Amino acid sequence: RPGAEHWVPRGADLDGLRHAAEGCRGCELWRDATQVVFSRGAADARMMLVGEQPGDREDQEGEPFVGPAGRVLGEAIDAAGLTEDQVYRTNAVKHFRFERRGKRRIHEKPGMAHIAACHPWLEQEIALVRPAVIVALGATAARAVLGSPVKIGEVRGMVLESPDGTPTIVTTHPSGILRIRDEDDRRRAHDGLAADLRRAAELIG
Ligand code: SF4
Repeated sequence: RPGAEHWVPRGADLDGLRHAAEGCRGCELWRDATQVVFSRGAADARMMLVGEQPGDREDQEGEPFVGPAGRVLGEAIDAAGLTEDQVYRTNAVKHFRFERRGKRRIHEKPGMAHIAACHPWLEQEIALVRPAVIVALGATAARAVLGSPVKIGEVRGMVLESPDGTPTIVTTHPSGILRIRDEDDRRRAHDGLAADLRRAAELIG
């Protein structure tokens, strides 16, 4: 198989996986990115949160969800009554994809080929962590986790299943919440994300 498969070490633990990802050349995104951004969380976390890809801050710091969207997600995790050790945060694609405009780096959505190329990492993370529930944040994550495209509006909050049978809830990506101008609408969207996380939390037993 093309993509990351060649770099994913079989039989490695989570630390081994993280370390190996630094050398991944499964697609071209590693070339322009600063570094790989793998995941945060313990192997025994019960809930896996999957985002799209690292952003500008994440790319610089090498940590997932440390930028503005990560802060929104962190607030929703708190609001849902979840603790740090219960959640494992990762992304469908592990290198930052962007377009350079002058000095600025503008986030660019990963393409289908990047999602497919990076999938062996996510697959192995799911196999190692064996979460009781996966929460896919946004359409890209949903596609990566479920293996087929879904419309967020149609499936949001429902309990679906990943191909390996893990209960999966699809919700919006926190970066979308940041783009809502109206304060009331933004708060509602924030509450909606927290409510979806709470629903997912009920599944971790
Ligand atoms: Fe490898 Fe994924 Fe990075 Fe592409 S985006 S180089 S597949 S880790």
